[in-house]
Amino acid sequence: MNRPLVAVLSGAGISTDSGIPDYRGPNGLWRKDPEAEKLVTYDYYMGDPEIRRRAWLMRGENGALQAQPNAAHRAVAELEKSGTPVRVITQNVDGLHQLAGMPARKVLELHGTARAVVCTRCHARTPMEDALARVDAGEGDPACLTCGGILKPATVMFGERLDPVVLGEAAAITKACQIFIAVGSSLQVQPAAGLAAVAADHGARLVIANAEPTPYDELADEIVREPIGTALPELLRRLHAASR
Ligand code: ZN
Repeated sequence: MNRPLVAVLSGAGISTDSGIPDYRGPNGLWRKDPEAEKLVTYDYYMGDPEIRRRAWLMRGENGALQAQPNAAHRAVAELEKSGTPVRVITQNVDGLHQLAGMPARKVLELHGTARAVVCTRCHARTPMEDALARVDAGEGDPACLTCGGILKPATVMFGERLDPVVLGEAAAITKACQIFIAVGSSLQVQPAAGLAAVAADHGARLVIANAEPTPYDELADEIVREPIGTALPELLRRLHAASR
């Protein structure tokens, strides 16, 4: 029997057990704090060196690079290692799917990654760690070492467009998969949310695992409300057993 292609769409809820709060969701920290939201809004960031200095301090303090994958990230990676074809589409920028063992080429990061920085002029990409080390050493707003341009995290800030290539691949996987699992996403931020509907339209079995109801629950074949850290490993084990 051919094993089904499983697409996992993950949102902030999969990483809360790793100590990463929901920053950018509709009820996320940034949306509730206009001053903090400026630090991650492209025009403010590019236009004001003081905003950038505060943003670098925030990145240094939030400890996101120290976060470790949890049982849910590991369960997704183990399903892939067991031979089931798995693709991850994530709204998260924490890189925890890859740290848990998912091959990077099988993870689509809709909102980019906080583990790298990119130059806004020459587009050189370097590790976030290196930039934060410069901030630690006293540079308030480290500039690109190649061209002197403004550096920003390799994340999609508010006011920036999502990468059309990544989006296109996400749509293709969503249409091709037999099972689509939305986990830890409130499914309220487009275009990620709409993928759930696309999956259902194309005949995939739609599973929604989220603590709170989502706008797509009525399309779902299965809804899971239990905590993700225990529910997702159990769900994926069951799925693997059924596909053997
Ligand atoms: Zn540069």
